[in-house]
Amino acid sequence: MRWHRLIQLCPKGFCAYIAQMIDGFGRNIDYLRISVTDRCNFRCAYCMPEQQTFLPHSDLLTYDEIMALVERFIAHGIRKIRLTGGEPLVRRDIEVLIEALGQHVKAGHLDELTMTTNGSRLQKFASLLASAGMKRINVSLDTLDPNAFRQISRGGDLASVLAGIHAARAHDLDVKINMVALKNENEDALLPMADFCAEHGLDLTLIETMPLGAGVLEREERYIALDDFTAPLRARYRFHPLAHKSAGPARYWRVDTLGLRLGLITPMSHNFCDHCNRIRLTTDGKIYMCLGSELHVDLRKALRDGVPSDVDHLLQTALRLKPQRHEFESQLAQPGLRLARHMNATGG
Ligand code: SAM
Ligand code: SF4
Repeated sequence: MRWHRLIQLCPKGFCAYIAQMIDGFGRNIDYLRISVTDRCNFRCAYCMPEQQTFLPHSDLLTYDEIMALVERFIAHGIRKIRLTGGEPLVRRDIEVLIEALGQHVKAGHLDELTMTTNGSRLQKFASLLASAGMKRINVSLDTLDPNAFRQISRGGDLASVLAGIHAARAHDLDVKINMVALKNENEDALLPMADFCAEHGLDLTLIETMPLGAGVLEREERYIALDDFTAPLRARYRFHPLAHKSAGPARYWRVDTLGLRLGLITPMSHNFCDHCNRIRLTTDGKIYMCLGSELHVDLRKALRDGVPSDVDHLLQTALRLKPQRHEFESQLAQPGLRLARHMNATGG
């Protein structure tokens, strides 16, 4: 591991130095995803079981605690933050946290603040997100058929998600749709989704389903590689590779003549770990260095003990724990190796 300390005063003197987190494989970690709650008003069939147990409220980091950690992360070189969950917009008073984080964007301490949301409460919050300095958000949407949507999300209302997307666009937020590819479940939803995104000026990102968490039925049966899932779209349109890069793991394509920008996230079929720049803070204060690994450090205790230097020390320890790559392929093949955490615990 190399630990870089760049002697560099930030514009407002907010931190005495800005370090850079370089892991043992030479990757610069500058992107933090924060799961602000593990709770959700949906129960997407690929994400969690219908009867899910959530953390007691006393285990959750308070907003003050999250902000205290964010200051340490920024001092260590984090430049981008994505809020996720569970569903971030169901946590009570979430606007308090979003506005506080927005101050770091406005002060230049962060390059980007974004969110991944199921969109169900976006109509209410779109204006707040925009005024906090968010420029773009991801909205998860696996089909445009209301009945199929209700089935996949186990109770979600498509109309409220669509209203949320339109509200976000009305507030000039760029919207990227996240669509999880599900064999025999939403394969026929791809062409309508591509048309919808092209018509409304949205990016579309497809995601292979990952084997996270126990009790999720039919995970193996639902997995489909994106090469196969996208075949009907490729049969109809040409794909041109794009140089475009976002902070995340997607590879991008231009779909002509639709004019659609299509992202492909292929954790299973085409590994992308070489360029991983991300770490994840769970709602109870653990730092996971990889979505596909149990290795973590617990920052909450150090924080509650009131020793900031311990937090810094733990961040350096965490950096040494970052594995070279996930092992989802073997975990999918052998259910006994399945990670206990569901996606809602660490966030997407
Ligand atoms: N509730 C928000 C949402 O759905 O957008 C944010 C949290 S959700 C866990 C983040 C992303 O993870 C969503 O796009 C969701 O579709 C995706 N996701 C959940 N479980 C997954 C799995 N097992 N494999 C791949 N993606 C998954
Ligand atoms: Fe909730 Fe998002 Fe998981 Fe669906 S994918 S159950 S919306 S956390």
